[in-house]
Amino acid sequence: MHNRPTAMTRRRLLGAAAGAAFLAGVPRARAATYDLLIKGGRVIDPSVGLDGVRDVGIAGGKVAAVAADLVGDATETIDARGRIVAPGLIDIHTHAGRVKEGPTKILQDGVTGWVDAGSGGADNVDEVAAVARTAPQIGRVLVNISRRGVVSPGGELHDLNLANVALARGAIARNRDVVVGVKARLSDNVADSNDLEALRRAQEAVAPFGLPVMIHVGQNYSPLRGYLALLKRGDIVTHMYAPGKNGILDDKGILFPEVMAARRRGVIFDFGNGVNDHFDWDTVEKATKQGLWPDTFSTDWTAQSKTTGVVDLPNVMSKLLMYGMPVAQAIACATVNAARVFPSFDDRGTLNVGAPADVAILELREGTFEFLDNYKGTRTGKQRLFPVATVLAGKRVQAA
Ligand SMILES: [Zn+2]
Repeated sequence: MHNRPTAMTRRRLLGAAAGAAFLAGVPRARAATYDLLIKGGRVIDPSVGLDGVRDVGIAGGKVAAVAADLVGDATETIDARGRIVAPGLIDIHTHAGRVKEGPTKILQDGVTGWVDAGSGGADNVDEVAAVARTAPQIGRVLVNISRRGVVSPGGELHDLNLANVALARGAIARNRDVVVGVKARLSDNVADSNDLEALRRAQEAVAPFGLPVMIHVGQNYSPLRGYLALLKRGDIVTHMYAPGKNGILDDKGILFPEVMAARRRGVIFDFGNGVNDHFDWDTVEKATKQGLWPDTFSTDWTAQSKTTGVVDLPNVMSKLLMYGMPVAQAIACATVNAARVFPSFDDRGTLNVGAPADVAILELREGTFEFLDNYKGTRTGKQRLFPVATVLAGKRVQAA
Protein backbone atom coordinates (compact mmCIF):
# COMPACT_ATOMS: atom_id res chain seq x y z
CA MET A 1 0.00 0.00 0.00
CA HIS A 2 1.31 3.50 -0.83
CA ASN A 3 1.76 6.04 1.89
CA ARG A 4 -1.00 8.53 2.22
CA PRO A 5 -0.42 11.92 3.82
CA THR A 6 -2.24 12.41 7.09
CA ALA A 7 -5.14 14.86 7.22
CA MET A 8 -2.83 17.45 8.74
CA THR A 9 -0.07 17.22 6.14
CA ARG A 10 -2.64 17.01 3.34
CA ARG A 11 -4.19 20.26 4.52
CA ARG A 12 -0.77 21.91 4.60
CA LEU A 13 0.13 20.57 1.18
CA LEU A 14 -3.19 21.74 -0.22
CA GLY A 15 -2.66 25.21 1.22
CA ALA A 16 0.87 25.43 -0.16
CA ALA A 17 -0.18 24.11 -3.58
CA ALA A 18 -3.11 26.53 -3.78
CA GLY A 19 -0.83 29.43 -2.88
CA ALA A 20 1.75 28.43 -5.46
CA ALA A 21 -0.93 27.96 -8.13
CA PHE A 22 -2.36 31.39 -7.39
CA LEU A 23 1.04 33.02 -7.66
CA ALA A 24 2.26 31.11 -10.69
CA GLY A 25 -1.08 30.68 -12.42
CA VAL A 26 -0.43 27.00 -13.14
CA PRO A 27 -2.88 24.12 -12.64
CA ARG A 28 -2.42 22.25 -9.36
CA ALA A 29 -3.06 18.66 -8.44
CA ARG A 30 -6.41 18.30 -6.70
CA ALA A 31 -6.57 16.45 -3.38
CA ALA A 32 -9.68 14.29 -3.01
CA THR A 33 -12.32 15.40 -0.50
CA TYR A 34 -12.56 11.87 0.91
CA ASP A 35 -10.15 8.98 1.14
CA LEU A 36 -13.11 6.62 0.94
CA LEU A 37 -16.73 7.19 0.00
CA ILE A 38 -19.35 4.53 0.75
CA LYS A 39 -22.17 5.34 -1.65
CA GLY A 40 -25.90 4.72 -1.50
CA GLY A 41 -26.18 2.12 1.26
CA ARG A 42 -28.89 1.76 3.87
CA VAL A 43 -27.06 3.32 6.77
CA ILE A 44 -28.24 1.86 10.06
CA ASP A 45 -26.62 3.70 12.94
CA PRO A 46 -28.69 3.10 16.08
CA SER A 47 -26.39 5.39 18.10
CA VAL A 48 -28.15 8.33 16.43
CA GLY A 49 -31.41 6.58 15.47
CA LEU A 50 -30.53 6.67 11.77
CA ASP A 51 -31.95 4.17 9.28
CA GLY A 52 -31.95 5.54 5.74
CA VAL A 53 -30.12 5.70 2.44
CA ARG A 54 -26.99 7.81 2.90
CA ASP A 55 -23.42 8.22 1.73
CA VAL A 56 -20.61 7.92 4.25
CA GLY A 57 -17.51 10.02 3.57
CA ILE A 58 -14.27 9.10 5.31
CA ALA A 59 -11.07 11.16 5.59
CA GLY A 60 -7.99 10.74 7.75
CA GLY A 61 -9.35 7.52 9.26
CA LYS A 62 -12.43 9.27 10.65
CA VAL A 63 -16.04 9.58 9.59
CA ALA A 64 -16.11 12.97 7.84
CA ALA A 65 -19.72 13.18 6.65
CA VAL A 66 -22.94 11.17 6.55
CA ALA A 67 -25.57 12.57 4.20
CA ALA A 68 -27.72 11.81 1.19
CA ASP A 69 -25.78 12.37 -2.06
CA LEU A 70 -22.50 13.67 -0.71
CA VAL A 71 -20.65 15.81 -3.22
CA GLY A 72 -16.89 15.75 -3.49
CA ASP A 73 -14.51 13.24 -5.02
CA ALA A 74 -12.92 10.31 -3.33
CA THR A 75 -9.72 8.31 -3.71
CA GLU A 76 -11.75 5.12 -3.42
CA THR A 77 -15.47 4.47 -3.64
CA ILE A 78 -17.53 1.50 -2.45
CA ASP A 79 -20.91 1.03 -4.12
CA ALA A 80 -23.13 -0.02 -1.21
CA ARG A 81 -26.49 0.14 -2.96
CA GLY A 82 -28.74 -2.64 -1.67
CA ARG A 83 -26.44 -3.20 1.30
CA ILE A 84 -26.55 -2.25 4.96
CA VAL A 85 -23.84 0.12 6.14
CA ALA A 86 -23.42 -0.20 9.91
CA PRO A 87 -20.83 0.83 12.46
CA GLY A 88 -18.11 -1.83 12.79
CA LEU A 89 -19.40 -4.75 14.86
CA ILE A 90 -18.20 -5.40 18.41
CA ASP A 91 -18.17 -8.95 19.75
CA ILE A 92 -17.87 -8.95 23.55
CA HIS A 93 -17.50 -12.71 24.04
CA THR A 94 -14.91 -14.39 21.83
CA HIS A 95 -11.80 -16.51 22.24
CA ALA A 96 -10.03 -14.63 19.46
CA GLY A 97 -6.99 -14.13 21.69
CA ARG A 98 -6.23 -17.85 21.76
CA VAL A 99 -4.69 -17.89 18.31
CA LYS A 100 -2.60 -15.29 16.57
CA GLU A 101 -4.77 -15.30 13.44
CA GLY A 102 -8.05 -15.03 15.38
CA PRO A 103 -8.45 -11.24 15.15
CA THR A 104 -7.70 -11.14 11.41
CA LYS A 105 -10.29 -13.85 10.76
CA ILE A 106 -13.12 -12.10 12.56
CA LEU A 107 -12.22 -8.79 10.93
CA GLN A 108 -13.51 -10.38 7.70
CA ASP A 109 -16.89 -10.82 9.43
CA GLY A 110 -17.23 -7.10 10.10
CA VAL A 111 -15.88 -7.33 13.66
CA THR A 112 -13.78 -4.22 14.36
CA GLY A 113 -13.67 -4.71 18.13
CA TRP A 114 -13.57 -7.84 20.26
CA VAL A 115 -13.15 -9.10 23.79
CA ASP A 116 -11.49 -12.39 24.62
CA ALA A 117 -13.63 -13.67 27.49
CA GLY A 118 -11.47 -15.62 29.89
CA SER A 119 -9.34 -17.83 27.63
CA GLY A 120 -6.45 -17.12 29.97
CA GLY A 121 -6.07 -16.79 33.72
CA ALA A 122 -3.16 -15.46 35.78
CA ASP A 123 -0.84 -18.25 34.56
CA ASN A 124 -1.43 -17.81 30.82
CA VAL A 125 -3.29 -14.55 30.10
CA ASP A 126 -0.12 -12.72 29.05
CA GLU A 127 -0.16 -14.64 25.75
CA VAL A 128 -3.78 -13.62 25.14
CA ALA A 129 -2.90 -10.02 25.99
CA ALA A 130 -0.04 -10.14 23.47
CA VAL A 131 -2.48 -11.19 20.71
CA ALA A 132 -4.78 -8.33 21.70
CA ARG A 133 -1.94 -5.80 21.47
CA THR A 134 -0.92 -6.85 17.98
CA ALA A 135 -4.44 -7.29 16.54
CA PRO A 136 -5.39 -5.07 13.60
CA GLN A 137 -8.56 -3.91 15.40
CA ILE A 138 -9.22 -3.14 19.10
CA GLY A 139 -8.87 -6.35 21.11
CA ARG A 140 -9.51 -6.50 24.83
CA VAL A 141 -9.25 -9.26 27.42
CA LEU A 142 -11.11 -10.63 30.42
CA VAL A 143 -8.89 -12.50 32.88
CA ASN A 144 -10.30 -15.83 33.99
CA ILE A 145 -10.68 -15.95 37.79
CA SER A 146 -9.13 -19.43 37.61
CA ARG A 147 -5.39 -19.04 37.21
CA ARG A 148 -5.40 -21.75 34.52
CA GLY A 149 -7.91 -20.01 32.22
CA VAL A 150 -10.51 -22.11 30.37
CA VAL A 151 -9.94 -25.80 30.99
CA SER A 152 -12.25 -27.66 28.65
CA PRO A 153 -13.25 -30.38 29.05
CA GLY A 154 -12.73 -30.74 32.77
CA GLY A 155 -13.47 -27.28 34.08
CA GLU A 156 -11.16 -24.78 35.76
CA LEU A 157 -12.96 -24.18 39.07
CA HIS A 158 -13.44 -27.63 40.62
CA ASP A 159 -10.41 -26.78 42.74
CA LEU A 160 -11.24 -23.50 44.45
CA ASN A 161 -7.56 -22.83 45.14
CA LEU A 162 -7.20 -22.01 41.44
CA ALA A 163 -9.45 -18.96 41.98
CA ASN A 164 -6.67 -16.88 43.49
CA VAL A 165 -7.57 -13.21 43.97
CA ALA A 166 -4.01 -11.92 44.41
CA LEU A 167 -2.79 -13.64 41.25
CA ALA A 168 -5.78 -12.39 39.24
CA ARG A 169 -5.11 -8.83 40.44
CA GLY A 170 -1.47 -9.17 39.42
CA ALA A 171 -2.51 -10.32 35.94
CA ILE A 172 -4.85 -7.32 35.60
CA ALA A 173 -2.21 -4.88 36.85
CA ARG A 174 0.50 -6.01 34.43
CA ASN A 175 -1.89 -5.98 31.45
CA ARG A 176 -3.89 -2.91 32.40
CA ASP A 177 -3.67 -1.56 28.81
CA VAL A 178 -5.82 -4.39 27.42
CA VAL A 179 -7.58 -6.07 30.35
CA VAL A 180 -11.15 -4.81 30.85
CA GLY A 181 -12.53 -7.19 33.46
CA VAL A 182 -12.70 -10.71 34.87
CA LYS A 183 -14.55 -13.80 33.65
CA ALA A 184 -15.99 -16.57 35.79
CA ARG A 185 -17.46 -19.71 34.25
CA LEU A 186 -20.04 -20.89 36.76
CA SER A 187 -21.84 -23.84 35.20
CA ASP A 188 -21.89 -27.11 37.11
CA ASN A 189 -19.40 -28.84 34.80
CA VAL A 190 -16.86 -26.04 35.35
CA ALA A 191 -17.36 -25.00 38.99
CA ASP A 192 -19.90 -27.33 40.68
CA SER A 193 -20.55 -26.14 44.26
CA ASN A 194 -17.68 -23.62 44.08
CA ASP A 195 -19.80 -21.34 41.88
CA LEU A 196 -20.83 -18.68 44.41
CA GLU A 197 -17.43 -18.46 46.08
CA ALA A 198 -15.71 -18.22 42.69
CA LEU A 199 -17.99 -15.31 41.79
CA ARG A 200 -17.27 -13.59 45.12
CA ARG A 201 -13.56 -13.90 44.38
CA ALA A 202 -14.03 -12.53 40.87
CA GLN A 203 -15.70 -9.45 42.37
CA GLU A 204 -12.91 -9.14 44.92
CA ALA A 205 -10.31 -9.28 42.13
CA VAL A 206 -11.87 -6.44 40.10
CA ALA A 207 -12.86 -4.22 43.04
CA PRO A 208 -9.63 -2.16 43.24
CA PHE A 209 -9.78 -1.54 39.47
CA GLY A 210 -13.50 -0.74 39.17
CA LEU A 211 -13.93 -3.29 36.37
CA PRO A 212 -16.89 -5.50 35.44
CA VAL A 213 -17.25 -9.26 35.83
CA MET A 214 -18.70 -11.45 33.09
CA ILE A 215 -20.30 -14.69 34.25
CA HIS A 216 -20.94 -17.69 32.03
CA VAL A 217 -24.13 -19.44 33.17
CA GLY A 218 -26.00 -22.62 32.24
CA GLN A 219 -26.86 -25.84 34.08
CA ASN A 220 -25.80 -24.18 37.29
CA TYR A 221 -25.25 -25.83 40.65
CA SER A 222 -26.85 -22.89 42.48
CA PRO A 223 -30.00 -21.00 41.51
CA LEU A 224 -29.35 -18.08 39.14
CA ARG A 225 -30.80 -15.61 41.64
CA GLY A 226 -27.81 -16.32 43.88
CA TYR A 227 -25.45 -15.20 41.10
CA LEU A 228 -27.54 -12.17 40.19
CA ALA A 229 -27.46 -10.98 43.79
CA LEU A 230 -23.66 -10.82 43.51
CA LEU A 231 -23.65 -8.76 40.30
CA LYS A 232 -23.25 -4.99 40.15
CA ARG A 233 -24.29 -2.49 37.49
CA GLY A 234 -22.30 -3.12 34.30
CA ASP A 235 -21.58 -6.79 34.99
CA ILE A 236 -22.49 -9.20 32.20
CA VAL A 237 -24.38 -12.50 32.08
CA THR A 238 -23.36 -14.46 28.99
CA HIS A 239 -25.20 -17.52 27.61
CA MET A 240 -28.38 -15.87 28.88
CA TYR A 241 -30.66 -18.40 27.12
CA ALA A 242 -28.92 -21.51 28.48
CA PRO A 243 -31.52 -24.23 29.16
CA GLY A 244 -31.48 -26.78 31.95
CA LYS A 245 -31.41 -26.52 35.70
CA ASN A 246 -31.11 -23.19 37.47
CA GLY A 247 -31.43 -21.06 34.34
CA ILE A 248 -33.58 -17.99 33.69
CA LEU A 249 -36.88 -19.96 33.54
CA ASP A 250 -38.72 -21.85 36.28
CA ASP A 251 -40.23 -25.35 35.84
CA LYS A 252 -43.28 -23.82 34.16
CA GLY A 253 -41.22 -21.79 31.70
CA ILE A 254 -41.81 -18.50 33.52
CA LEU A 255 -38.96 -16.02 33.73
CA PHE A 256 -37.67 -15.61 37.28
CA PRO A 257 -38.50 -12.04 38.41
CA GLU A 258 -34.88 -11.58 39.56
CA VAL A 259 -33.74 -11.63 35.91
CA MET A 260 -35.69 -8.54 34.88
CA ALA A 261 -34.85 -6.91 38.21
CA ALA A 262 -31.14 -7.41 37.47
CA ARG A 263 -31.55 -5.87 34.04
CA ARG A 264 -33.36 -2.87 35.52
CA ARG A 265 -30.40 -2.18 37.76
CA GLY A 266 -27.94 -2.30 34.89
CA VAL A 267 -26.79 -5.92 34.57
CA ILE A 268 -26.17 -6.73 30.90
CA PHE A 269 -27.56 -9.87 29.25
CA ASP A 270 -25.48 -11.29 26.42
CA PHE A 271 -26.47 -13.94 23.87
CA GLY A 272 -23.19 -15.93 23.77
CA ASN A 273 -23.90 -18.44 20.99
CA GLY A 274 -21.08 -20.95 21.50
CA VAL A 275 -21.35 -24.65 20.84
CA ASN A 276 -22.25 -26.69 23.93
CA ASP A 277 -25.29 -26.17 26.21
CA HIS A 278 -25.40 -22.38 25.78
CA PHE A 279 -28.80 -21.91 24.14
CA ASP A 280 -31.80 -23.70 22.69
CA TRP A 281 -34.72 -22.41 20.64
CA ASP A 282 -37.30 -23.25 23.29
CA THR A 283 -35.64 -21.00 25.87
CA VAL A 284 -35.19 -18.19 23.32
CA GLU A 285 -38.87 -18.40 22.40
CA LYS A 286 -40.18 -18.46 25.96
CA ALA A 287 -37.87 -15.69 27.18
CA THR A 288 -38.42 -13.32 24.26
CA LYS A 289 -42.21 -13.78 24.60
CA GLN A 290 -41.80 -12.56 28.18
CA GLY A 291 -39.76 -9.57 27.04
CA LEU A 292 -36.19 -10.76 27.69
CA TRP A 293 -34.17 -9.78 24.61
CA PRO A 294 -30.37 -9.68 24.46
CA ASP A 295 -28.57 -6.42 25.21
CA THR A 296 -25.64 -7.70 23.16
CA PHE A 297 -24.89 -10.46 20.66
CA SER A 298 -21.71 -12.46 20.88
CA THR A 299 -20.34 -15.53 19.18
CA ASP A 300 -18.11 -17.16 21.82
CA TRP A 301 -15.86 -17.41 18.76
CA THR A 302 -13.13 -20.02 18.31
CA ALA A 303 -11.10 -21.03 15.27
CA GLN A 304 -13.75 -23.72 14.61
CA SER A 305 -16.73 -21.34 14.53
CA LYS A 306 -17.12 -21.26 10.74
CA THR A 307 -18.04 -24.94 10.75
CA THR A 308 -20.39 -24.86 13.77
CA GLY A 309 -23.76 -23.21 14.24
CA VAL A 310 -21.97 -19.94 15.00
CA VAL A 311 -20.54 -19.21 11.51
CA ASP A 312 -20.01 -15.48 12.17
CA LEU A 313 -21.44 -12.61 14.21
CA PRO A 314 -23.93 -11.50 11.49
CA ASN A 315 -25.30 -15.08 11.42
CA VAL A 316 -25.75 -15.04 15.20
CA MET A 317 -27.54 -11.67 14.99
CA SER A 318 -29.88 -13.14 12.35
CA LYS A 319 -31.17 -15.78 14.80
CA LEU A 320 -33.25 -13.27 16.77
CA LEU A 321 -34.78 -11.77 13.62
CA MET A 322 -36.86 -14.98 13.49
CA TYR A 323 -38.44 -14.04 16.81
CA GLY A 324 -39.35 -10.54 15.71
CA MET A 325 -36.31 -8.48 16.63
CA PRO A 326 -36.07 -5.58 14.14
CA VAL A 327 -32.88 -5.47 12.03
CA ALA A 328 -31.93 -2.08 13.48
CA GLN A 329 -32.21 -3.52 17.00
CA ALA A 330 -29.98 -6.48 16.09
CA ILE A 331 -27.42 -3.99 14.79
CA ALA A 332 -27.75 -1.89 17.95
CA CYS A 333 -26.92 -4.97 20.05
CA ALA A 334 -23.70 -5.58 18.07
CA THR A 335 -22.64 -1.93 17.86
CA VAL A 336 -23.67 0.82 20.26
CA ASN A 337 -24.90 -1.50 23.05
CA ALA A 338 -21.70 -3.55 22.95
CA ALA A 339 -19.58 -0.37 22.84
CA ARG A 340 -21.20 0.86 26.05
CA VAL A 341 -20.26 -2.26 28.00
CA PHE A 342 -16.54 -1.43 28.11
CA PRO A 343 -15.05 2.11 28.19
CA SER A 344 -12.34 0.97 25.73
CA PHE A 345 -15.02 1.11 23.03
CA ASP A 346 -16.33 4.57 24.00
CA ASP A 347 -15.64 6.04 20.59
CA ARG A 348 -16.91 3.00 18.65
CA GLY A 349 -20.22 1.49 17.66
CA THR A 350 -21.22 4.70 15.89
CA LEU A 351 -20.87 6.46 12.54
CA ASN A 352 -20.97 9.87 14.15
CA VAL A 353 -18.88 12.49 12.35
CA GLY A 354 -15.47 12.45 14.02
CA ALA A 355 -15.63 8.81 15.14
CA PRO A 356 -12.97 6.32 13.99
CA ALA A 357 -14.13 5.06 10.59
CA ASP A 358 -14.86 1.42 11.44
CA VAL A 359 -17.67 0.18 9.21
CA ALA A 360 -19.38 -3.16 8.60
CA ILE A 361 -21.05 -3.53 5.22
CA LEU A 362 -23.64 -6.27 5.40
CA GLU A 363 -26.17 -7.83 3.10
CA LEU A 364 -29.63 -8.73 4.38
CA ARG A 365 -30.65 -11.60 2.13
CA GLU A 366 -34.25 -12.78 1.87
CA GLY A 367 -34.85 -16.49 1.34
CA THR A 368 -34.88 -19.68 3.37
CA PHE A 369 -32.11 -20.02 5.91
CA GLU A 370 -31.52 -22.75 8.47
CA PHE A 371 -30.14 -21.79 11.88
CA LEU A 372 -28.73 -24.07 14.60
CA ASP A 373 -28.98 -23.97 18.39
CA ASN A 374 -26.52 -25.90 20.61
CA TYR A 375 -28.63 -29.10 20.57
CA LYS A 376 -28.74 -29.68 16.80
CA GLY A 377 -32.15 -28.00 16.82
CA THR A 378 -32.86 -26.14 13.58
CA ARG A 379 -35.14 -23.22 12.88
CA THR A 380 -35.83 -21.81 9.46
CA GLY A 381 -35.78 -18.06 8.99
CA LYS A 382 -36.56 -15.80 6.05
CA GLN A 383 -33.69 -13.37 6.51
CA ARG A 384 -29.99 -13.65 7.14
CA LEU A 385 -27.28 -11.04 7.48
CA PHE A 386 -24.05 -11.73 5.60
CA PRO A 387 -20.77 -9.83 5.96
CA VAL A 388 -19.77 -8.19 2.67
CA ALA A 389 -16.90 -5.83 3.46
CA THR A 390 -15.16 -4.29 6.44
CA VAL A 391 -13.61 -0.85 6.76
CA LEU A 392 -11.11 -0.39 9.60
CA ALA A 393 -9.79 3.05 10.53
CA GLY A 394 -10.94 4.32 7.14
CA LYS A 395 -9.30 1.61 5.06
CA ARG A 396 -11.07 -1.19 3.29
CA VAL A 397 -9.96 -4.56 4.64
CA GLN A 398 -8.72 -6.81 1.87
CA ALA A 399 -10.44 -10.19 1.54
CA ALA A 400 -8.41 -13.01 3.07
ZN1 LIG B 1 -16.63 -18.43 26.03
